[in-house]
Amino acid sequence: MSRTRLALLGPPGAGKGTQAKRIVEVFGFRHLSTGDILRDEVGRGTDLGIRAKTFMDRGELVPDDLIIDMIGGRIEAASEGFLLDGFPRTVPQAEALETISPLDAVISIDLPREEVVNRLTARRVCVACGQIYNLAFRPPTESEICDACGGKLIQRDDDKEEVIQNRYDVYQASTSPLIEFYRERGLLEEVDGRVGSDGVFERIEELLAE
Ligand code: AMP
Repeated sequence: MSRTRLALLGPPGAGKGTQAKRIVEVFGFRHLSTGDILRDEVGRGTDLGIRAKTFMDRGELVPDDLIIDMIGGRIEAASEGFLLDGFPRTVPQAEALETISPLDAVISIDLPREEVVNRLTARRVCVACGQIYNLAFRPPTESEICDACGGKLIQRDDDKEEVIQNRYDVYQASTSPLIEFYRERGLLEEVDGRVGSDGVFERIEELLAE
């Protein structure tokens, strides 16, 4: 397979994190999630975490220079293949990425606003292993407990409805222009997120096998 430098694009709640976990299990790329790295920085109370938290809590984007500094070295270190999840999210980030390591393909998972709100208000995440659940269509066997590791399930602070609405607006204004950016470069592969997790993954497997 020749396409080893990939990015997932899509609104919050489209399933980027869930798909990323499945893709790396099968294809073995390095999973680089800027959201996960930022949440780890916040959890450890680092300078970056403290600065980033004020933006994240409001559903706004962390400034480009902080993000590029944070992720650039990790991308360079993963030259054997990587899957970016949540980066790039703005045109300046995409332009910076072109100078660090150009992509082979971008998979854009689309989902309408109403569906995003429904999904994210029902999303729960394991504090211990990061496994993602949905109370509506992927509930844990035991309420609030992770099936995989027994960790506690929580709702992310930014999965509250008013923050979700803002995150969707931010996606439309700042991130959706990347669809055209990558289409112009012949790198864009589009997947309809409404078909659900298994349907989306089947489509991605087909794309990566091509
Ligand atoms: P995510 O887990 O990808 O939804 O990211 C959670 C939050 O982290 C976002 O709402 C932003 O505040 C911040 N964030 C993650 N990735 C980026 C990025 N590439 N650029 C700016 N902010 C980001």
